[in-house]
Amino acid sequence: DLPTVAIVGRPNVGKSTLFNRLVGKKLALVDDQPGVTRDRREGDASLLGMDFKIIDTAGFETDDPQTLPGRMRAQTQAAVRDADVALFMIDARAGLTPLDEEIANWLRGEDTPVVVLANKAEGKAAEHGVLEAFNLGLGDPVPFSAEHGEGIVDLFEALRPHV
Ligand code: GDP
Ligand code: MG
Repeated sequence: DLPTVAIVGRPNVGKSTLFNRLVGKKLALVDDQPGVTRDRREGDASLLGMDFKIIDTAGFETDDPQTLPGRMRAQTQAAVRDADVALFMIDARAGLTPLDEEIANWLRGEDTPVVVLANKAEGKAAEHGVLEAFNLGLGDPVPFSAEHGEGIVDLFEALRPHV
């Protein structure tokens, strides 16, 4: 079986952009449980010749299991627990938010290795956010741009020990 990488992060940081870039046209939709898995996508990814399964998770807004966001969060957490490595994506332009901190706190308590990916890092506007990401306590962040394809080699190097 291929090793598994789960992308996790608050909405709008660029998770799906990265997923689409790594999967290309081999994209697979997973919707066996409508409403719960609707935004969880899995695909076969290739990064500089390294092959792995990648999961684009959705939902980390609430932990109330009675709500749809709560069920999506539970599913995101299950995907991270099952993964060989979690790619924790932040938006280096926006800087860290309370939800980023909440996700980081949760990840610190899990056994799954974490790579922090500081996305939207193209240009100077991201410098402060990248520095902030060093303080998450989850290892050195990898500056990255999913939109522009910058940081691919550094991402490869960060994932390689786990994949
Ligand atoms: P998700 O909600 O985490 O899946 O985020 P999306 O992949 O849907 O991206 C959210 C927005 O961020 C979109 O408008 C993307 O075009 C934009 N975006 C993604 N990656 C980058 C990046 O590297 N740089 C910039 N500037 N914008 C990005
Ligand atoms: Mg998305």
